[in-house]
Amino acid sequence: MDTAEVVERFVKRLSLYPYIPFLAEDELEGLFGQEVMSALRRLQDFARETNLCAGCGGKCCADVKCELYSTRFPACPIHELRPLACRFHFCPRFGDEHKEAIIALRDAYLGCFYTFDGMGSITGSHQARCLDTPPLAIFWPELSELGRRVIAFMDSGDLNLEEAQQAIRHEVLQYRKDHHAPSPK
Ligand code: SF4
Ligand code: SF4
Repeated sequence: MDTAEVVERFVKRLSLYPYIPFLAEDELEGLFGQEVMSALRRLQDFARETNLCAGCGGKCCADVKCELYSTRFPACPIHELRPLACRFHFCPRFGDEHKEAIIALRDAYLGCFYTFDGMGSITGSHQARCLDTPPLAIFWPELSELGRRVIAFMDSGDLNLEEAQQAIRHEVLQYRKDHHAPSPK
């Protein structure tokens, strides 16, 4: 994978996605290109076929103290729109056979992050920190707070599982709408 090429494409196309970091899979390919997407898909397929992440239950989500994480959710409540940093994270449990691909993806992502950081903000809310979230509090404190409250309501029985997931998802969909995103396919 050519990191410089990935970064160049990212910089050229970034303004097409003002709703980052909450991109759908086809948008991810648009921003990072086909080679990155193929590598991500291979790792996702491996995780699905081996039940790796589903079986683990999201230890990395808990470790990073993501405000949208609950052991009661069967999966990330915004899985199809999860932040870019989540999509590019693969823990050592993926094994040595995937190490090279994981490092290449990490380098490409960090290259984009540092380049974006050096560019300054494009608009008020689209600073490089959006690529370094979760936890969400620094990037989007309102979503951070909403996630905590929704999960507390679910734990106390005031919201059921479905309502809690919907409340979080609704907020992220609204963010996308507010930033001129198409409806996710
Ligand atoms: S990346 Fe690793 S820690 Fe995170 S959910 Fe998958 S297996 Fe678990
Ligand atoms: S947003 Fe990311 S860290 Fe949080 S629960 Fe979803 S996948 Fe995990």
